[in-house]
Amino acid sequence: MPKTFTRLETKGVKAIFAVSPELCKGCGLCIEKCPSQVLDWSTRIGIYGTPIVEPKRMERCTGCMLCQYFCPDAAIDVIREAKKKMPLQPLLEKEEAGGDRSK
Ligand code: SF4
Ligand code: SF4
Repeated sequence: MPKTFTRLETKGVKAIFAVSPELCKGCGLCIEKCPSQVLDWSTRIGIYGTPIVEPKRMERCTGCMLCQYFCPDAAIDVIREAKKKMPLQPLLEKEEAGGDRSK
């Protein structure tokens, strides 16, 4: 049976940041690499007895995913907000302007 890990999720405007306490070893690489200084140490202790990371300034998160890429233990999962839904109307109008080719 596949092992599942706890996900501590924090929702921001541009992304959801999730960290797994069972995977974070407290190396600090993600804190160092985040270009927006979103991350910091948590008071929560991870599986290795070290503090895990926590997004303390989530409002600054751009969803760049650098933290996820640099984490050596795959402890971070960043889910970017879908690009703002494009209004369907202009697309439909464009299609109609092209004419219905099935006729
Ligand atoms: S890079 Fe990964 S393992 Fe290191 S502190 Fe950040 S989340 Fe934890
Ligand atoms: S997604 Fe980018 S901005 Fe957000 S916490 Fe990770 S490195 Fe920082």
